[in-house]
Amino acid sequence: MRRAVCPGSFDPVTNGHLDIIVRASKLFDEVVVAVGINKNKNTLFTVDERMDLIRQAVRDHPAGATNVAVEPSHGLLVDFCRSHGIQSIVKGLRAVSDFDYELQMAQMNTRLAGVETLFMSTNPQYAFLSSSLVKEVAKYGGDVSGLVPDVVLKQLRERL
Ligand code: ADP
Repeated sequence: MRRAVCPGSFDPVTNGHLDIIVRASKLFDEVVVAVGINKNKNTLFTVDERMDLIRQAVRDHPAGATNVAVEPSHGLLVDFCRSHGIQSIVKGLRAVSDFDYELQMAQMNTRLAGVETLFMSTNPQYAFLSSSLVKEVAKYGGDVSGLVPDVVLKQLRERL
């Protein structure tokens, strides 16, 4: 079984993330979305909330991906891969500014455990999109509809 992981904080999931997750689900038998638990990071949504939002967004997606699982992850991503029988990491690349860090991570993960990283180019519609920018805009009342799944939009409006 070919299984891949899409890792991240997803605080909250955006349409850019969702696009990568759904496209990856067409290439692999199963995609596991690994939602990072990082106690040093101040997140707007708890890990359970972030996981629920991803599950709902995937369920509501018109492409209907049924082979996507969502799980919490802490510690090294390669350990998550090992314990879940995952051979590949899938990451979205937005711009060259993402590249240096992602290349370094990819090479370290190959060195640590022989896990391969595959980069997918971002849908140009979402190339400027990040969770932090979405939160910033939403905080000041900006319109982020079309940039995040509807369930996220609703939660952002309630929370901010
Ligand atoms: P982190 O906070 O761990 O850096 P994010 O949750 O923001 O991660 O994003 C997780 C991963 O999702 C990124 O490493 C990147 O591969 C991908 N990603 C983020 N934003 C986008 C986007 N707009 N389009 C495509 N991929 C994205």
